[in-house]
Amino acid sequence: MREKDCKIVQDLLPNYIEKLTNEETNKFVEKHLKTCKECKKIYDNMKKDLNVDNKTKEKKKVKFLKKYRNKLRVLEIIILIVVVAFLINTGRKMYIITDLNNKAQEYVNSTNYHRTSYSLDNGKYTKSEVFSLGDRKKIIITTMTEDGEKQVVTIFGTKIETVPDTPYAKTYPPVETYKENMYKVTDTEKTAMLDIEIEMSVDNQEAFWGIEDTKGLIMTAITSSISKATFNGKECYYVSGTPAILLNTSMYVNKDTGLEISTMASEYENPDGEKGRIAGTEYKYEFGTVNEDDFIEPDISEYTIVEQ
Ligand SMILES: [Zn+2]
Repeated sequence: MREKDCKIVQDLLPNYIEKLTNEETNKFVEKHLKTCKECKKIYDNMKKDLNVDNKTKEKKKVKFLKKYRNKLRVLEIIILIVVVAFLINTGRKMYIITDLNNKAQEYVNSTNYHRTSYSLDNGKYTKSEVFSLGDRKKIIITTMTEDGEKQVVTIFGTKIETVPDTPYAKTYPPVETYKENMYKVTDTEKTAMLDIEIEMSVDNQEAFWGIEDTKGLIMTAITSSISKATFNGKECYYVSGTPAILLNTSMYVNKDTGLEISTMASEYENPDGEKGRIAGTEYKYEFGTVNEDDFIEPDISEYTIVEQ
C-alpha cells in the first residue's frame, strides 16, 4: 500500500512543484511527504533542479533582451551615421555649387570674352566661336559632315533687347533679340542675309544656373553628384545630375572659374515635352581679348543677298 502511494506521489511531484495540482491532491502529497523520507528526498531534489532550471531560463531571457537592445542600438548608430554622412555630403555640395556659381558670375557678366567650343555628334563636327564685346556678338559656326561637306556661318549681331518671360527664362540663358547680318559659306555658294532680327540664347556655360533660392540650391545639391577630377591636366570637378536641374547630365567644371570645360553628350526633354540631344562638347575661354578688328564684316560684293 505504502509503495503504491509512493509511486502515485512521485508521479504527481512535478505537477505539484509547478503548483498545477488541486487542493485535495496537495493535501495527499503533503501528508505523504511528511511521513516518507524517500519521497521527501526525491521532492527536494526535484525542486532544486527545477529552481536551477528556472534560473538559467531567466538568465537566457535577460541575455536575449540585452542582445536585442544592443542590436537596436547598433541599428540606431548606423542610421545616425548614414544621416550625418548624407547631411555632410549635401552641405559639401552646397558649398562647392555656391563657390562655383560665384566664380562663374564674374565671367558670365564679362562684356569681353571669346569662347570656342568643339563638339562631335552623330558624325557631325561643329566648331563654334562666340566673340562678345559689349552689346555686340560675332558668332562663327563651322560644321563638317562625315562626307566632308563644310559650312561656315558667321553672324554679326547687336543686341536690341532681352526677351522677357519666355517659357525658358528661368531655366535657360536669357533669350535676346539681335539685329544681325548673317553670312553663309558652303563649298558651292556664298550667301548673306542682311539686317535681320533674330532671337538668340547664348549659353554662358556656367555650370549651375537657375539656382535662385536656397530650395533650388538644396535640391541641386541633393540630386547631383560632385567629385574632384582633372581634365586635360586642369583641376576641376566632375558633376553629374538630373537634366531638370543641370542642362547637361554630366560635365567637367573648371575649379577656378566655375565654367564648363567639357560636357558629355546627353538627351533632354524641354518643358514642352520635346526631346532633344546635346552633343559632347569641349570649351575654351579667353577674356579681354576681343577688339574692333573682330567685327570687321566681309566684302559684301562676293555674296549673294538672300531676302528674309
Ligand atoms: Zn513515499
